Amino acid sequence: MSPVRELVVDLAAIRENVRSAAARIAPARLMAVVKADGYGHGMEPVARAMAEAGVDAFGVVDLDEARRLRDAGIGQPILAWIHGADADFAWAVSADVELGIGSVRDLERAATAAGERPAVVHLKADTGLGRGGAIGDQWAALVARAAQLEAAGRVRVRGVWTHLANTSPEADADQFLAFDAALALAREAGLDPELEHASASAAMFDHPAQARDMVRAGLALYGLSTFPDLTSAELGLRPAMELAAEVVAVKRVPAGLGVSYGHRYVTTRETTLALIPLGYADGLPRAASGRGPVAINGRRHTIAGAIAMDQVVVDVGDDAVDVGDRAVFWGDPERGVPSASEWADAADSIPYEIVTRVGARVRRRYLS
Ligand SMILES: *Cc1c(COP(=O)(O)O)cnc(C)c1O
Repeated sequence: MSPVRELVVDLAAIRENVRSAAARIAPARLMAVVKADGYGHGMEPVARAMAEAGVDAFGVVDLDEARRLRDAGIGQPILAWIHGADADFAWAVSADVELGIGSVRDLERAATAAGERPAVVHLKADTGLGRGGAIGDQWAALVARAAQLEAAGRVRVRGVWTHLANTSPEADADQFLAFDAALALAREAGLDPELEHASASAAMFDHPAQARDMVRAGLALYGLSTFPDLTSAELGLRPAMELAAEVVAVKRVPAGLGVSYGHRYVTTRETTLALIPLGYADGLPRAASGRGPVAINGRRHTIAGAIAMDQVVVDVGDDAVDVGDRAVFWGDPERGVPSASEWADAADSIPYEIVTRVGARVRRRYLS
């Protein structure tokens, strides 16, 4: 049996976050983004909980992720937006999976895959993120061709969308203006999309008037804040993920003992060291060596020295810590444990990266 290393996901928190987001954006619809294995929380259980809480649609990156949702019995609309050269659009049409399309090339592939039913597409405008989507003349060409293919019954343009760069409020405003211009061109071309959508979690809070017909929310539904200066609780959210492991060894050591690779930590007095079997292979960012926080028996400590592949050491001073005690790396700070955002800060990263990288060796456990 392995030592206890566990990622606990509170599905009640997921449901609460979904209801709170849905109320915030109503009457706009809520698309729950569950890419990257539900932001590392486990796509299938999380998606089922979100469906119970009433999300209108799901967003994923690719068709394999969409297939996992359909296999899990998810019946809501699904949008997938990154397609490899061999992506099976015919499967997407047959499984009623909608395609994010940002180029004429992908649009033609979608049209070719249409059978009895048209391929359902959401055309993506690049309004200033500089990533996917059509820009400038490409957008005019995309909407013109989409109108032809729609008239021929090969595609149905259900949505027009864009994604923000989160650079500044002014840059966001410019993107919304560019989005309106793109929508006007689409309508001039003869399209009449049912869904306009631009906002993800950050804009859901920052630009409530821009919810349009739908918001594609990810991070907020997992209970995490996209803002460095605002906590989950301040946004009315509850973090769903807790990462914990058991203490497997405790020893009393003298002053002057170098700890872990490179001796980046040296004890300054006689103290107690606790060994916890969680390392960078399990998702602790090595960049947070000597900085990452951990709570044991309700007391907060800091990782001593280098985070290794399989283990970390914590200097707990004279605290009574025993083998089998539970060490929590991140979870809901309202319960006295560190947050994923603190780990992000400690690793010069963002909470998205922290929660999506928990290793396969860590057992998953779901509450309610
Ligand atoms: C990941 C993603 C989202 C969700 O972003 P959050 O910041 O997690 O809410 C929305 N739209 C697109 C296109 C995405 O890639």
